[in-house]
Amino acid sequence: MAWARFGKKKDMPGGLWIKCESCGAMLFRKEFEQRHRVCGTCGYHFTLPARERIALTVDPGSFEERWTNLVAQDLLGFNDRVPYGEKLVATRAKTGEADAMVTGKALVKGVPCALGVMNFQFLGGSMGMVVGEKIALLCEFAVEQKLPVVLFACSGGARMHEGAVSLMQMAKTCGALQRCNAAGIPTISVMTHPTTGGVTASFASVCDLLIAEPGALIGFAGPRVIATTIKKELPKGFQRSEFLLEKGQIDRIVPRSQLRDELGRLLAYATGRDPVAVFKAQPVAVEAEAVVAAAVVPPADEAKAKKKTKAKK
Ligand SMILES: [Zn+2]
Repeated sequence: MAWARFGKKKDMPGGLWIKCESCGAMLFRKEFEQRHRVCGTCGYHFTLPARERIALTVDPGSFEERWTNLVAQDLLGFNDRVPYGEKLVATRAKTGEADAMVTGKALVKGVPCALGVMNFQFLGGSMGMVVGEKIALLCEFAVEQKLPVVLFACSGGARMHEGAVSLMQMAKTCGALQRCNAAGIPTISVMTHPTTGGVTASFASVCDLLIAEPGALIGFAGPRVIATTIKKELPKGFQRSEFLLEKGQIDRIVPRSQLRDELGRLLAYATGRDPVAVFKAQPVAVEAEAVVAAAVVPPADEAKAKKKTKAKK
């Protein structure tokens, strides 16, 4: 639905409307949530909280959460205005989550898999000791149970509050995925807006299959940092899914509405199941090329994206 822009903030009834970060259209919250946080005007994919992502992706009632008892500690006594320890306590209370990663076992279109979903609402989805440990445990579990691995990335990068410990998670998660590789376990990474910093530079980029949602910002350093460093104007659509697909860095782009079907189909292929049986009487996702052509997503305001992801590189 195309809603006219409201002139001033005071014109917006509180909480009922959301302004699209990309095209500026006013979106009715209820309809916006029914569309799983995709703009009805321009197709912009907003960040999806982990629990909503799981509800949208897995078969109803099939998610068995694991390793919920892991909590981060402030090993360095880090303090950026608010001590890290206090920030952790407040964020846990605010989000109801233990950390920025939810992991477990689930069925997608009837195919069992080991699933990890990042939560951007928890300190910008930053990767610290708990995120790294959960991914490592998930991979070990997948090898043991012979399950394919699906990881949803959504992150501002490594968690600076944990210093070198957060950077170590890059090597740790890559090592865990290498174990899956050696054991013949298929791994799928789904990069969503935004996937940046140490997460792009580690587990999100080393899976067998790299999927992205349309228009997602995916990169290491932010566009402004790169432009200032190389003193050149960046190409249009730089660091967006469509640009990365064109350059061969990702394998396909799948809109949110088709992601469950597409994952189910890929998991069926990867585990030697008959995809036709898996998809009996179910709509099958369209081919990657058609998906890309259909995804009309203007690049979002870089400054806004940067503001959101300025945390933790
Ligand atoms: Zn929009």
